[in-house]
Amino acid sequence: MTVHEKMKLVIDLAERALEKNELPIACIIFHNDTIVAQSHTSESEDDRLLVHAELKALMELDQKKIKAKEKRQMELFTNLEPCMMCLGASIASFVGKVYYSLDAPSDGAAKWAVKSWNDYHVTSSFCLPEIKSGILKSESKALIGGSIFREFLNATRSLGLAV
Ligand SMILES: [Zn+2]
Repeated sequence: MTVHEKMKLVIDLAERALEKNELPIACIIFHNDTIVAQSHTSESEDDRLLVHAELKALMELDQKKIKAKEKRQMELFTNLEPCMMCLGASIASFVGKVYYSLDAPSDGAAKWAVKSWNDYHVTSSFCLPEIKSGILKSESKALIGGSIFREFLNATRSLGLAV
């Protein structure tokens, strides 16, 4: 499976989230072509704030008790740049690669981490996953840009929660 084919599966899952009135954000963790864990956001259904797609998929991965060495071969795909919490969970889970589609307008941490990691973590045993962005960007933009996600961003801005 190509990187684009994997991201297409993520976008399909994000569309299913939107059909359930959730934010259209999804995550799939692959080991080669095998799906190891997957999830989408569920803030509405769960009425909770920390149920991000990536964190939920990483929690599912964590329950499988796979060794760190094997997790380094895994790739996390998500259609929106991970936030600091989810990127931190990726690091703590020893996932080898993180691929995302769109830069997050408010809480994205990947660009910051790539820029800052070596300044602060020289002696750490944790590694920043290899990060690539922009995969199927226009498809993700069409999904997120034309969805309730925009309303969500406007609402957080009006509350002074977004920059
Ligand atoms: Zn997150």
